[in-house]
Amino acid sequence: MTEESKQFRTQITDAVQLHGHLGPFLVIGVRIGRVAKQILNSENQGKGELYASVEVPLHTPFSCILDGVQSTTHCTIGNQRLRVEKSRRNITARFEITESDKALAVFVNPEIVKEVTDKISKGATNETLAEAIASMPRDKLLKFSITENHSPEKR
Ligand SMILES: [Zn+2]
Repeated sequence: MTEESKQFRTQITDAVQLHGHLGPFLVIGVRIGRVAKQILNSENQGKGELYASVEVPLHTPFSCILDGVQSTTHCTIGNQRLRVEKSRRNITARFEITESDKALAVFVNPEIVKEVTDKISKGATNETLAEAIASMPRDKLLKFSITENHSPEKR
């Protein structure tokens, strides 16, 4: 196993510790958090604090994403670095990092969300679906765009 995939497995284990169970949407949250850290931290050489805003339907299994994001990014409800917005269907996470004018938007592919919910209703186990999400190519699961924020809000 590469360092990269060992780190990913550890992040999943940590997210399960927080959340209480393993599931596909928790793993989606972990993957969103990884993208945010990889892209914004490397843009900013590890400096600055990350802020997240997640739009998601506020019921399970979708809301399980929030704990994956919290566990992986340490943007939490408690430290006020996570804002949660209710959406009807779409799942989008936006991130900013202090001391940077870059912002990142991560979109979860709605076809994959539909596929997962269909499989849940047909009785597929959380573990099987979580593994499918964990091993899915990133670009199939997530789309993202980096934007320049020309008037960075001072926090
Ligand atoms: Zn859950």
